[in-house]
Amino acid sequence: MIELAEALALVEATAAALPPRRQRLLDVCGRPLAAGVIADCDSPPWDRAMMDGFAVRNADLADESGASRTAVELDVMVDLAAGDVTQLVIRDGTCARIMTGAPIPAGAEAVVPIECAVDGTAAAHAGARVRLADPRFRAGQHVARQGAAFRRGQEVLTAGTVLRAAEIGLAAEAGATHVVATPRVRVALLSTGSELVECDREPAFGQTRNSNGPMLAAAVSLLGGEPIPLGLAADKPEAIRAAVAQGLAADMLLLSGGVSAGDLDLVPEIFRQCGVEKVFHKVRLKPGKPVWFGRLGRGGGEPDTLVFGLPGNPASSLVCFELFVRPAFQILAGRARDQWHLPQGRARLLAPCNAAPDRPVYLPGRLRAAAGAPVTSRSLAGRLEIEPLPWTGSSDLRGMAGASGLIALSAGAGLVAAGAEVSVLVRDGIISPETDGWPRSRG
Ligand code: AMP
Ligand code: MG
Repeated sequence: MIELAEALALVEATAAALPPRRQRLLDVCGRPLAAGVIADCDSPPWDRAMMDGFAVRNADLADESGASRTAVELDVMVDLAAGDVTQLVIRDGTCARIMTGAPIPAGAEAVVPIECAVDGTAAAHAGARVRLADPRFRAGQHVARQGAAFRRGQEVLTAGTVLRAAEIGLAAEAGATHVVATPRVRVALLSTGSELVECDREPAFGQTRNSNGPMLAAAVSLLGGEPIPLGLAADKPEAIRAAVAQGLAADMLLLSGGVSAGDLDLVPEIFRQCGVEKVFHKVRLKPGKPVWFGRLGRGGGEPDTLVFGLPGNPASSLVCFELFVRPAFQILAGRARDQWHLPQGRARLLAPCNAAPDRPVYLPGRLRAAAGAPVTSRSLAGRLEIEPLPWTGSSDLRGMAGASGLIALSAGAGLVAAGAEVSVLVRDGIISPETDGWPRSRG
């Protein structure tokens, strides 16, 4: 059995980022770029009308001092909807009827909004005359100038940027149909135990629904990974071995059950037989003590497959996911170090909690901003309160389900009183000061 800090250091030392590769833009949503994106065009690509109205010359609407004239009468030379182009040049005393998104024709410099057409001339098309009165006219108004946002050849997204909606849109605009990014981490999931049935079944007496499978698949999905469910394996060496062999083709294998010291805890031996090198087994921790971690070299320059044997008890499995699997995953996914672990903070305990005599313990709690505290960012120190949730132990997912935080108590701390400052892991994004809810804002 090793200490938690040592186990975490071993996970960090064992995991390495998957090699980046070129992928379709839409397949990298939520993941970081491994190489910058260079624009293949200017944005806007040409001077673009930003209002529906009339494309005019500045001098026709304003005199030399810049003051706007009262009303100006201009010949409409052409109608330009978005997508229309013209070779025509707008000369003094003329204009173009133009819609938002169309290129400003040569000679024109500004757009006068259609609302500024007076004396019933707003409907003036090519061949007619329009009377324009724009008391707030400014030279060049309502035109987005070519290259104002970015220039061809410019790096518009740098390596490391996480591709969220705006970044995907920007890459698309800049002509990047493909980008270089770490591939999606593929995580095989196997639940072992002869007592298990899939959760769509009514369990008979003695049977237990497989809650770890869906739970771990969800946890992987929430990190942006690709869960590969391998279903159930009974506590039979051949059954487990066959499924493990399949799972070892993924980037990571998460197996649950059969890793502690019972008669049918066959998994460590099967991992050994499959060539998986043990990094550690058992961590001084509650819940989650039986956790097993190892690696399988894939050869040929391929990164190792990381292998976790998680405790069968669902709450233990979840705590092990948060503590060990999460950093391993984030490292594989090429994430920056500050995103490897759950954010840690201090919070005022709202009800007493029992520490364990021999192991650090993690308990589910509901976090909220301390009354009146201006919580603005991840600088969480001293601004949080945590309410312990009713929880009956490692098989109980009910308390874990509502837990926005985990209360970390050191071994031998005894009964920790209400009001004490405790260490917490923040499970659910950035706190909102208005509510005690936790918007999902991590990505
Ligand atoms: P084990 O780690 O195999 O000793 O299992 C510990 C406890 O967790 C037992 O009560 C198992 O029935 C239960 N368990 C194991 N696997 C799962 C699973 N996939 N879903 C829900 N409970 C499980
Ligand atoms: Mg078992």
